[in-house]
Formats: sequence, structure tokens, C-alpha cells
Amino acid sequence: MPISPSETFSTPIAPLLVDAMGRHMRDLRISVTDRCNLRCTYCMPREIFDRNHVFLPRNDLLSFEEIALVARAFVRLGIKKIRLTGGEPLIRRGIENLVHELASLTDERGTPIEVTLTTNGVLLSQKARALKDAGLARLTVSLDGLSDAVFRRMSDADVPVATVLNGISSAERAGFSSIKVNMVVKRHVNDHEILPMAKHFRHSGIALRFIEYMDVGSTNGWRMEDVVTAGEVLELIKSQYPLERMDPNVPGEVAKRWRYIDGSGEIGLIASVTQAFCKDCTRMRLSTDGKLYTCLFAEHSNTDLKALLRSGSDEQALMKAMAGCWQNRDDRYSQIRHDLTIVPRSKIEMSYIGG
Ligand code: SAM
Ligand code: SF4
Ligand code: SF4
Repeated sequence: MPISPSETFSTPIAPLLVDAMGRHMRDLRISVTDRCNLRCTYCMPREIFDRNHVFLPRNDLLSFEEIALVARAFVRLGIKKIRLTGGEPLIRRGIENLVHELASLTDERGTPIEVTLTTNGVLLSQKARALKDAGLARLTVSLDGLSDAVFRRMSDADVPVATVLNGISSAERAGFSSIKVNMVVKRHVNDHEILPMAKHFRHSGIALRFIEYMDVGSTNGWRMEDVVTAGEVLELIKSQYPLERMDPNVPGEVAKRWRYIDGSGEIGLIASVTQAFCKDCTRMRLSTDGKLYTCLFAEHSNTDLKALLRSGSDEQALMKAMAGCWQNRDDRYSQIRHDLTIVPRSKIEMSYIGG
């Protein structure tokens, strides 16, 4: 198996797996459900994800035991960080039990694996304490605006913004620090909420991250003219609140971090469309039904871990399949998006592959 030497940022004992373009496998995203209690227009448009939509049958979902087995094998292959996502991970019953299992994994030095989770925050008030007690290290909450009308337009659901804000407060009370808030920006839909959101989260200790609206999946009707670029967001915020660039925390960090010069906090800009970061992309993705994907914009998977697990394969066989999947990887969709969007493709939906 091709290996790479230790690196500048960390010095792992076990060498990290590298893909066909020299990128290391460091983090794993696990989609624990393809269902959601919101219908964000950019992710699960209601016209498609309506009551006739067929979600995965229960038996097709990996069980928590199966996810834990897969995660343990990934840790043996060098994964240091696991993010639970979906769909909406908090609607999977007993999610805190899975967090507990994963948070007890350690790498070859005995260092605990960092387990994080991305949520829309709707159920966070009920779940924050249990997630903290289970060992969840960090939380990211998605929120696309502060006005109920705008939030409803983005989420296409009748949930007040206060529900999400209360969820964030509950998480803080439960002891979560360094919470992040993700805001997807769509032109003429919620771009006028950029400055109110920046103002709201200054002085809060919460890092607000602006995400360029992406052409994930095949159902959201994405058009480049709806993308508010990270550059535009930066200029707008700078015009009100002066900012300076920060160094990345870790290699391959997707958000470009900026801090307010007056010390009132930081923001992140995730420019997935206008400044592709494929060359630093270190993420493996496990779908709700146990398939591996090496890119958010994948069209198919060649590695079905559920089939392996349910046919009695041992950990060595799993690790071989996982390693082969990463080593064959040559994805760089965002770098070559322009050429690819000319030809219609049938990309996997984000709610299934895990955002
Ligand atoms: N339901 C959870 C949530 O919304 O936080 C977790 C899953 S969601 C797919 C993960 C992240 O992907 C969210 O922050 C969401 O805003 C983002 N996302 C979904 N569709 C997107 C798109 N088309 N462009 C950019 N970001 C998107
Ligand atoms: Fe649900 Fe998250 Fe997708 Fe919104 S972005 S529809 S909350 S999975
Ligand atoms: Fe990674 Fe694919 Fe996104 Fe590029 S397009 S950063 S390879 S997930």
C-alpha cells in the first residue's frame, strides 16, 4: 500500500494513506440518515423530497454497531476526525449512543478521535446535554438568516429562528465551546442577512461561516448567478467591520478564517465554487447505506461496505476495500466544474452522501 512520510502539521506514527493525487486520508464524514425535518431549497427541494419520495428503508441503514466497526477500521487506517451528518443527524434515534461509541476510539498514540456533528439545530435544545455527555467534541449548526421569513424561504419549513437560536444556547449551556454556525448564501434570497448575521454573532464566541451555494446533487436547480461569492461576502463585511486574515488551524481546512480587528471574533469563508480546495481535500464519505464516496460531487460508489459487513467480511477485508477506494481516488470536481457542468450529470444528493 503506498504510504507517505510524516508531515509538518502533525507527526503520525502510522503513515497516512494517500490517493492518486497525493492527498492524505484524514477525516471521515458519516451520513447517519437521508431524512430531514427541514426542506432547504438548496439541498432537499420539497418538490422532489415530497411525501412520494422514497427514503432508504430502515434495514438499508447501517446500524450503529456497523458504523462503529467501519469507523474503527478507518481509525486503523489513519482517520483522526469523524463528522456525523446527514440528512439531519439528530433525527436518528439514540444518536448520542453512536457518539459515545465513536468518541471512545483512539489512534495508535492513544489520542481520542475527534467526533463532531453538523445539525440544523431544530432538535438541539433536546439533545445538547446528551451529546456533550456522550463525548461530542464540537458542533456546527446551520442557520441561513435571522428573520423568520427569510429562514422559512431557505428551509421551506415552519420552524422559527428562535428554535435554532435556543438550540445554540442550550449547546453553550451544556458546555460546548467553539461552536460554528454555517450560513449558505443565495443571491436575492438571504444575502441581505449577511450583515445582520455578522452583527449577531460578533462578541458571541461563535464563528460564523459563509458557504457558497453549491451545485451538489441534481435537484436544486443551481445556477452560477445565484452564488454570492466569498469575495463579495468578505468585501461587504469588511465595509462595516474591519477584518484581518488568520492562519489555518489544521492542514486542508476548507474555511478561510478572518478575525475582526477589534477582537470581537472571527468568520470563515468557504469558497467551494470560486476557489476550489480539491488539492487539500482529505475527506472520505460514508453514505447512510454504507457506501464509500470520495467526493461530494460523486456520481456513484465502487465500494459497498454494507455488502461486505453483511456477508461476514472481517476487519482486514474492510480495511483493504477502504484503502483501495482512497488510493484510486482522483476526484477534483470543483477544480474542473466548469467543463463538467456543460454535460448534465446525475450526482448523488447531499442529504444521502452527507454534507
Ligand atoms: N442537516 C444538517 C445541517 O443542515 O446542518 C447536516 C447536513 S447538511 C447537508 C450539511 C451542510 O451542508 C449544511 O451546513 C448545509 O447548509 C450545507 N449545504 C447543503 N446543501 C448545500 C448547497 N447546495 N450548497 C452549499 N452548502 C450546502
Ligand atoms: Fe436538511 Fe441540512 Fe439539507 Fe437543510 S441542509 S435540508 S437541514 S440536510
Ligand atoms: Fe473534495 Fe470533491 Fe469538493 Fe474537490 S469537489 S473539495 S475533491 S469533495
